[in-house]
Amino acid sequence: MAARIDHTVISGTFSLDGQTHEVANNVWVVGDDAECVVIDAPHDVDGIRAVVGGRKVTAVVCTHAHDDHVRVAPALREAVGAPILLHPADRPLWELTHTGTEWDEDLSDGQEITVAGTRLRVLHTPGHAPGGVCLYAPDLGCVFTGDTLFRGGPGATGRSYSDLPTLEAAIRARLFALPDDTVVRPGHGDGTTIGAERAAMDADAAGEGSPARLSGEEGTP
Ligand SMILES: [Zn+2]
Ligand SMILES: [Zn+2]
Repeated sequence: MAARIDHTVISGTFSLDGQTHEVANNVWVVGDDAECVVIDAPHDVDGIRAVVGGRKVTAVVCTHAHDDHVRVAPALREAVGAPILLHPADRPLWELTHTGTEWDEDLSDGQEITVAGTRLRVLHTPGHAPGGVCLYAPDLGCVFTGDTLFRGGPGATGRSYSDLPTLEAAIRARLFALPDDTVVRPGHGDGTTIGAERAAMDADAAGEGSPARLSGEEGTP
């Protein structure tokens, strides 16, 4: 049976640098009727388990360690018996939320996670967070981008541990190397495609776009 993608949106808060924002997070579940991988663990274990159903969870993959993406990762691990995977460069962010609790396995660039016969290739895309990763699923024609790339541009870089030039370089080198028709499934909000976002960023770089697109303004995740 081919792998499919299930999805839900779970609302909660994102806190960093002494500020708290209301956010709605996408949860992506990739798998078949037997097993699945959960991408990000925001806010509410029951909401995630409703999408998983009775399937075996083989991994909880965190796109980065902002609290809205990892808050219930340890509780979900407990509930479903799956390891938590995170890029080790996000340790400082992880420890802000989960002091004294470890994740299970480090993610590394180029690593492939296989679930239900489908490969998820780990692309290390730092900038929004030092350990930010995207998961490219060539068989599914999509990439799960966390907060690295949204519909409308890169993720926010106005807070601690973020850097816009690093993020833009990672997006151009790693994400814009993917086929134009690759569907982008981000950590918040609607999807887009690699081709649409490349065109928009190129227009911005040429001074044709709205500067606000790239500002990472307050309140964005
Ligand atoms: Zn984030
Ligand atoms: Zn986020």
